[in-house]
Amino acid sequence: MILISSSDAFAKGEVIIGSTVIEVGKRYDLNIDIPAGESDPKTFIPITVVSGAKVGPTLLMVAGVHGYEFAPILAAERLAEEVSPNELAGKLIIVCVAHISSFEARSPFINPYDRKNLNRSFPGNPKGTQTERIAYALSTEIIPNADIVLDVHSGDGSEWLEAFIGVYGGPLAMDYPKALSLAKTFGFQNIVRYKMNTQEQVDRGRSLNRQAVAQGLPTLLIEIGENGQRETEHIQAIIQGVKNSMVKLEMIEGVLDVPIQKHRYFGGTSSVKVKNTGIWHPVSTRARFVEQGETIGIIRSYNGVLVETVKSPIKGFTLYGHSGPSVKAESAVVTIGQPIDNLMIGTGSN
Ligand SMILES: [Zn+2]
Repeated sequence: MILISSSDAFAKGEVIIGSTVIEVGKRYDLNIDIPAGESDPKTFIPITVVSGAKVGPTLLMVAGVHGYEFAPILAAERLAEEVSPNELAGKLIIVCVAHISSFEARSPFINPYDRKNLNRSFPGNPKGTQTERIAYALSTEIIPNADIVLDVHSGDGSEWLEAFIGVYGGPLAMDYPKALSLAKTFGFQNIVRYKMNTQEQVDRGRSLNRQAVAQGLPTLLIEIGENGQRETEHIQAIIQGVKNSMVKLEMIEGVLDVPIQKHRYFGGTSSVKVKNTGIWHPVSTRARFVEQGETIGIIRSYNGVLVETVKSPIKGFTLYGHSGPSVKAESAVVTIGQPIDNLMIGTGSN
């Protein structure tokens, strides 16, 4: 397999994905084949490449790392129709459904064969289980072709979620100003900065977006929609956001359509874990400001006895959480953003 970086590709006029040479001015619908493993079957990753007639950057949009998060998958399907090679400078690579087995089995979070979370399995392993082989193919055959990565998610089957964008900064993240400028024009109100200060932060339970960071790419995590819904409003917001990114990167002509005037900025997040298994009753499944010590939910035993009152360890803004009702000990039930005034670099806070 020959992999050509995008900068080389523009010089040579081609990118190779799988065994397909990507020529300028065409659209490609491809499958990356993932061979069978020792204990689980073969699979594939469907990909659309819109290869522009003009030179420009390569933007990678990934949908369906979690196959039960439907808004990104439906947005990817529509986006592929709406971007024409003739109007495009550079390349738009769309991973239509990164985790087909999870999508087809309607399996939230995990692969139905090996029960692993693809978004904790990077960089993957070509000799590993199906999830690890998918991660390896994305790491080696797709991500190296990109200049910028948008990894698009929703709240999964049992998660409520307020739309937000995660942008990777800190000494181990590449080109934070570019990533931040795309985050601000994407169109969502909430922007979280994930500071990558140590290699351990990049490596721990490595997600696709952390893998892109590790491969030196400016990277955004996009999150919208919840509880496995397929709302038109969320699908449209993703499509408009990706188009805004392409306008900002001068890949397409057009005007930015950014409905948000004032962003909420968060310097990081803190997840609240519980001690008990049982039945979870959140106080709210909507985003809101909470005080330190404020009750955010209770857990009852399966017999209905109160076993835990869960309180917020910090003052902040709840971004997403577990809708319940089932909950397991040591799992996170709410993730709280830590508000800050701005995300600019050069202030010593990046
Ligand atoms: Zn996800």
